[in-house]
Amino acid sequence: MVEHQSDSHVPEMATPSHILMRETTDPVVFHEAVWGRVFNRRRDTSRVPRAVVRASCVAHVRDAVELANRLLCRVSVRSGGHSWAAWSVRHDAVLVDLADLGYMDYDRRRKIASCSPSVTGEVLNKALEGEGRMFAGGHCPDVGLGGFLLQGGMGWNCKNWGWACESIIGIDVVTADARELYCSSTENSDLFWAARGAGPGFPAIVTSFHLLTRPLLQMYNSVFIYPQSMFRTVLQWVIDTCPTADSDTEMVCVAKRTADGDDIDIIAGFLSFKPSKEEAETAMRHVRDSRPAGAKVEVFCEPTDFACQYAGQRDEQPTGYRFCSENAYIGNDVDDVPDVLEKAFTTLPTQKSFALYFAMNPTSRRPLPAMAHSMQSDHYFAVYTIWDDAADDARCTGWVHGIMRDVERYSAGSYMGDADFQHRTTRFWSKKNGERLRDVRRKWDPAGRICGYLDADDRSGVQGLRNEFEWVASTDE
Ligand SMILES: Cc1cc2nc3c(=O)[nH]c(=O)nc-3n(C[C@H](O)[C@H](O)[C@H](O)COP(=O)(O)OP(=O)(O)OC[C@H]3O[C@@H](n4cnc5c(N)ncnc54)[C@H](O)[C@@H]3O)c2cc1C
Repeated sequence: MVEHQSDSHVPEMATPSHILMRETTDPVVFHEAVWGRVFNRRRDTSRVPRAVVRASCVAHVRDAVELANRLLCRVSVRSGGHSWAAWSVRHDAVLVDLADLGYMDYDRRRKIASCSPSVTGEVLNKALEGEGRMFAGGHCPDVGLGGFLLQGGMGWNCKNWGWACESIIGIDVVTADARELYCSSTENSDLFWAARGAGPGFPAIVTSFHLLTRPLLQMYNSVFIYPQSMFRTVLQWVIDTCPTADSDTEMVCVAKRTADGDDIDIIAGFLSFKPSKEEAETAMRHVRDSRPAGAKVEVFCEPTDFACQYAGQRDEQPTGYRFCSENAYIGNDVDDVPDVLEKAFTTLPTQKSFALYFAMNPTSRRPLPAMAHSMQSDHYFAVYTIWDDAADDARCTGWVHGIMRDVERYSAGSYMGDADFQHRTTRFWSKKNGERLRDVRRKWDPAGRICGYLDADDRSGVQGLRNEFEWVASTDE
């Protein structure tokens, strides 16, 4: 644990305008600086940082680390503010907010985009559009690349194109002792290894990502909507179709309440990235021909684009609401995946909540490159519970935790991006990678200066997460 030093022991100096100290800033301004960019309205406001540093250049990021070193407290980082449990807001830490560090560049010759971590997938793709390129960032337009890439990044067509973090070729960082470094597979390679999968326990602050882009293709949407009674048939069809499906098409199965709330729609969605409609139709013909009879709605290869997809995501996960999300990779050895997920898909607790099955095969079946991210299976499952009245907190979070208790025993582990370590202990990496990550964290941040994982009571510190299932004391590979 980091020792704390009271502000009275800090040498007197004029506070620059990008640094807001808790004691000397108007409380309303300070509260806004702490919570204003946090997506989730369900917030633990007992966590109050010592200071907020609004960084608009790398020197400001260094200032934040130096301030934390002087105060002997921790430093927390915010890029896009979209972590469900608001990992950036930590009690008594110096919060460095990267919102104003807005930097983007594109190297035409190498087809590499460089950008700061608060840049979102939507902003990056808009900038790349004119170059005929894209980056497979998060589906939500407003997620920051910082949090998204560090945890692996389940981006567009992840099922086939792999994890978004596999496209990182280098990062610029500020370390826990306030040094600026470049990390790649050949320079500071252990930090580079950790940056691709450590998630919110990365032991440095990324100030820039250097990313391989891909050719921008046309997008075509196919959707088949069924009544709740057909859940098992529809999900099993999606699962069976997946391994041999087209390699430029991502596949989901989503449960959402109907507009009148009386039933639940089971939606099989396929998004194809293809050079032309003809190619999309050819690629999707097998899916259409094999679909179960009884769909209420059928859409086949309708043209769409990023603007339309991002708008849809904003509607599905609107700002201003209270959220609780959790997830699990269901093990490849589970015979009846629909049976395991049926309760989650058919008992959604509120009108806006939804359950998601994201098909991962064949990405899940290939060896991963050398990187911390190492947990995967064919079946990604997540629940997103959405409500607006604080009086529903216990009911909604209780539903999520109940669902996860049932599903957990069938899981191979979980994805950090949709997890909350305060409430659930599970596996996030292979045993070997989890251990190596601990070593890398201890090497680069032995004092635990940079806030690690926000577990129950925020105690994990330099130790990191246990990387074990709740019901098993220790696990073997
Ligand atoms: C509406 C919504 C939709 C989502 N959709 C997807 C999706 O399609 N695919 C997917 O994979 N995930 C998705 N997520 C999950 C999301 O990727 C994670 O919550 C991610 O952590 C958010 O990143 P952020 O930078 O916006 O969050 P922040 O809260 O700003 O950051 C989260 C944490 O990551 C670490 N971190 C962030 N930036 C840095 C940095 N520069 N240096 C060091 N550490 C840093 C810090 O510990 C920080 O507290 C979604 C989340 C939401 C709310």
